[in-house]
Amino acid sequence: MRRQDADADADADTEYLELMPDSGDLGPTAGAIWSEQAEWQRRRTPEGCIICRTGAPLDVIAETSACWVSAPEIAPIAGYVCVTSKSHVNEPFELPPPEQSTFWRDAMRVACAVADLFNPVKMNYEIHGNTVPHLHLHLFPRHLDDPCVGGPIDPRRASLRRSADAIERPRSCIVDALDSSN
Ligand SMILES: [Zn+2]
Repeated sequence: MRRQDADADADADTEYLELMPDSGDLGPTAGAIWSEQAEWQRRRTPEGCIICRTGAPLDVIAETSACWVSAPEIAPIAGYVCVTSKSHVNEPFELPPPEQSTFWRDAMRVACAVADLFNPVKMNYEIHGNTVPHLHLHLFPRHLDDPCVGGPIDPRRASLRRSADAIERPRSCIVDALDSSN
């Protein structure tokens, strides 16, 4: 799909929200948990990790041997997806070299599929893990009219609600890209 079509669909499919997304069961977010040392240390382990305890992230739309790709209904920006490692590590450098290579290869295939679909001015890649320290990479296709122009994406500042169709388009492109590269 060309950008023009994607724009028209995005306008029809999305509803911008002027609120902070609910962090659900995550408790304090964005590093506010760091001073609670016992809880922070617990989250750094698979036993205390909400992704490991759940078995996968929420809203998974695709997966490979190395990662899950997720796309929540409430998103910081149109085209947003997240690539989460299937191995519990806090930092990407903690993955053993073969897994590290597979994770980045798959993540870049996903990023390329998102870029092909949304034709952004620039792709942004963000790894934080300040709330959930299980390796995950946020992928943001940036546009001239996105709500965070002039700075990095702050998922807590503005959000949009995506329709099923707005999620299906990137899902289908990502699945095709991952299938064709195997
Ligand atoms: Zn984990």
